[in-house]
Amino acid sequence: MQVSVFGATGSIGESTVDLLLRRDDIEVVALTGGRNCVRLAEQARALRAKLAVTAHEDCYTELKEALAGSGVEVAAGTDALIAAAERPADWVMSAIVGAAGLAPGLRALAQGATLALANKESLVTAGPLLMSEAARNGACILPVDSEHSAVFQALVGEEISQVERVIITASGGPFRDWSKTDLAQATLAQAMQHPNWSMGQRITIDSASLFNKALELIETREFFGLEPAQIEAVIHPQSIIHALVGFRDGALMAHLGPPDMRHAIGYALNWPKRRDLPVARLDLAQIGSLSFEAPDPDRFPALRLSREVMELRGHAGAAFNAAKEVALDAFISGQIGFVAMAELVEHTIDSLLSESCLTEPVSALETVVAMDQMARERARGLAARMS
Ligand code: NDP
Repeated sequence: MQVSVFGATGSIGESTVDLLLRRDDIEVVALTGGRNCVRLAEQARALRAKLAVTAHEDCYTELKEALAGSGVEVAAGTDALIAAAERPADWVMSAIVGAAGLAPGLRALAQGATLALANKESLVTAGPLLMSEAARNGACILPVDSEHSAVFQALVGEEISQVERVIITASGGPFRDWSKTDLAQATLAQAMQHPNWSMGQRITIDSASLFNKALELIETREFFGLEPAQIEAVIHPQSIIHALVGFRDGALMAHLGPPDMRHAIGYALNWPKRRDLPVARLDLAQIGSLSFEAPDPDRFPALRLSREVMELRGHAGAAFNAAKEVALDAFISGQIGFVAMAELVEHTIDSLLSESCLTEPVSALETVVAMDQMARERARGLAARMS
């Protein structure tokens, strides 16, 4: 099987590489990364990749030198990422973080590849585009987000028309019990302390603010074609159950597993079969009990905002994600506080409500990119005034 990994040097990328290294039937077409050229070169050598691409043109020389004598072809820049996605591959991992993952994923679908989709921002910003591109080219999208992989697995052999509701779980993050006053003082270091999962910096902070779960509600709507009212989120601090599917006969099917992304990645890699995976097996007696609670919309407004975005439809997802990315950058750089992230996103969406393009149906990458840029500009201006 020929595979490519976009975002190979990240948290999902590393887990994917770990699984690929255990296989002897895989040919690696392309690996891509951002600034971590040393690690990208190590991976390319270990997997004997044909091509290694850094997203940044100024990193070309560093990557070229790191791969000297390896026989691995080297390229750099955004166009090179797109060209890599156009190289024929059977299975492509989409694990770039942020909206930057959208264009390569679309190109991979255009050449008919199976797209293992970790990059939830693709579905949030351009769900209809992604799904129609897959359908038009006979390509397949497999969810890699643990919650969506869980729903996907619970649906095997089922009819989507029989689904009453989908419940995705959230750990609640490090601030689950924090008061609003304390949240206003939360630091970057504290936001990085996820209780259960080890992930990249951006998704870890998004988990603390519940923006990650907000994106996942939209992702669920786009991927499974459900109505917003059918999609729920529940706080489940142990992160053992990843999602539940409720059927019209009242049955609730849950997917349980340890917090190890190699399960969802491996499921997508082996689909439609199952193979042994190097993940820990759950000891239910040792876990003892599982608990659930409703999310608090007052302390964590992200879920309410995502419902408003789902109702708006059109390009609201692209605006929401872009504003969220700007808010996250502003928090990471110390420009705004933790609570201000949600305020910034809400104000950005409010300021775009009068733009007719916000609710126009998504039909082309260009309009998604235009909305993304408009929302980023608006959010940056608002962030400057809030700081
Ligand atoms: P990381 O930040 O760990 O890794 C991101 C990857 O994307 C790195 O390879 C990075 O390169 C690369 N990258 C960063 N910016 C760009 C850019 N502008 N253009 C091209 N490449 C870029 O992220 P994660 O692995 O945590 O997350 C990846 C995606 O998967 C996200 O969409 C996230 O929401 C999703 N996801 C992650 C989960 C997890 O457990 N981590 C779980 C479920 C979903 P470099 O590091 O070399 O600069």
